[in-house]
Amino acid sequence: METMKKFVRYYEPYKGVFFLDLVCAAVISFVDLVFPQILRMLTKTLFAESSAKILSGLLPIGAGLFLLYFLQTGCKYYVSYQGHMMGARMERDMRQQLFDHYEKLSFSYYDQNNSGQMMSKLVSDLFDISEFAHHGPENLFISLIKIAGSFVFLFLINWKLAIPLLGLVIVMLIFSYGQNRKMQATFMDNRRKIGDMNSSLQDTLSGIRVVQSFANEEIEREKFEKSNRAFLVSKNANYHCMGNFMSGNLFFQGMMYLMTLVFGGWLIAHRQMEPADLAMYALYIGIFISPIQILVELTEMMQKGLSGFRRFLDVVETEPEIVDAPDAKPIETIKGHVCYEKVSFHYSDDETLVLSDVSFEIPAGRSIALVGPSGSGKTTICSLLPRFYDVTGGKITVDGRDVRKITLESLRSQIGLVQQDVYLFCGSIRENIAYGKPDASLEEIMEAAKKANIHDFIMNLPEGYDTFVGERGTRLSGGQKQRISIARVFLKNPAILILDEATSALDNESERFIQQSLEELAKDRTTITIAHRLSTIRNADEILVVSENGITERGTHEQLLKQGGIYAHYYEMT
Ligand code: ADP
Ligand code: MG
Repeated sequence: METMKKFVRYYEPYKGVFFLDLVCAAVISFVDLVFPQILRMLTKTLFAESSAKILSGLLPIGAGLFLLYFLQTGCKYYVSYQGHMMGARMERDMRQQLFDHYEKLSFSYYDQNNSGQMMSKLVSDLFDISEFAHHGPENLFISLIKIAGSFVFLFLINWKLAIPLLGLVIVMLIFSYGQNRKMQATFMDNRRKIGDMNSSLQDTLSGIRVVQSFANEEIEREKFEKSNRAFLVSKNANYHCMGNFMSGNLFFQGMMYLMTLVFGGWLIAHRQMEPADLAMYALYIGIFISPIQILVELTEMMQKGLSGFRRFLDVVETEPEIVDAPDAKPIETIKGHVCYEKVSFHYSDDETLVLSDVSFEIPAGRSIALVGPSGSGKTTICSLLPRFYDVTGGKITVDGRDVRKITLESLRSQIGLVQQDVYLFCGSIRENIAYGKPDASLEEIMEAAKKANIHDFIMNLPEGYDTFVGERGTRLSGGQKQRISIARVFLKNPAILILDEATSALDNESERFIQQSLEELAKDRTTITIAHRLSTIRNADEILVVSENGITERGTHEQLLKQGGIYAHYYEMT
């Protein structure tokens, strides 16, 4: 009920269209309902004595019928066009809301949800919702008017025949509803089986090189054949139910006509009904039966629409974890004094502390390096600074201000991040670099590319800066992508820089090449570097050795070597 109330709110901007849509639906049903009455009038006219009378009666009936059909056509046009558009507009509104919300949700949400499901919410769930939003009320309205209207007429024409008919209808409704539920369950099963089959197929195709190099085609074939067979079994159940449903409905429909004819004939024989009424009866039964099936399908459409809507609500009602505090103020220009004070942290799905009591300070423009085994928490330390996650204890300050009291926008726009894997968006190289500063001029972009050592490479491409990259774009090597991402950060020109294993995915040669650009980038910025090759961090102002027990050693390269601890040990190994 609560869900329904929230759902109705989305009709609010389209009240007018919605109301007109229902009026048109009512008119369409009304015309269908009066048609048998007109036929009756016509029959009476046709039985008049003189042909002149017949003809003079025919004209107004024809004109009236023309007007009715004209009206019905107009209404049908409105319902099919504007009614659907209303659904599409509501879908657009919800999709935009969902997208806006996705952008606000924090890293912790994305840790726990996969993007495939999020996509399906944007596409198929919303489609189900909009189908129901438009067809639901309208079909319900049409069906109810037709069913109620034709029943009233059936009773008025002859109530004795109407009562047993009503009994039959109730049996039919129960039958249809039950069969439809079974059928829908098999439909769901069908969809699951198709999903299984697709993922099996996708898995094999994505790994086809592995499959062939292990000569395991037969194994994959058997796996696929199994899901392919399961699909057939499921289809069998599906069509079996469908056969029951369709033939059952046809049977009841036949029985209704049969009862009308036989019992009606009996009533006529006993002078309790007129023969002309019997014909009308048959017509009204026709009007009466079609909406019953629509109604049965509607319950299903409603279930699908509402459960899609509930999944939609689940997302839009999830509060983003990281938001601006009410008293947050923007920070104009960050100088770059960063301070971690007794910081502790655990990820939300796991109570064990990843960081405890981490403290260090970086004066503006200076650099520190974090080293330690993988999984020790280096990346985690860095992601707390731009508030991808919030600390669970202690605090982090930038220029003396707690990061939780600075607006996210102003904080993040002054922190640059270079990571191991680079994401390039679909678009040109130029657009990808400009991502660091959307209003940058081509000169600025080229300047940044030169600093990142990628300008010459780009100029040698046939389409230069307009070369299309990203998914399905020109293939770039890991090093080239990394240099584009470095150019992006040059353009952003942040006061604080985080280099998280920026070169670890690269071969030795590209690493050396990129190292130069990174050093250039780090100049005069507060920098945190995580590196797996110690040679790249010798010049850091301070080196922190991170282990599962927290920060175990700290000092300059020389000091740490002299100490002869873990760092010295690492250094000897490389
Ligand atoms: P490092 O960068 O030093 O290799 P991380 O900071 O990535 O280490 O990870 C530190 C610990 O936190 C690891 O035990 C890892 O399993 C855990 N961890 C990292 N990211 C997440 C996450 N998004 N959700 C839950 N646990 C995480
Ligand atoms: Mg890491």
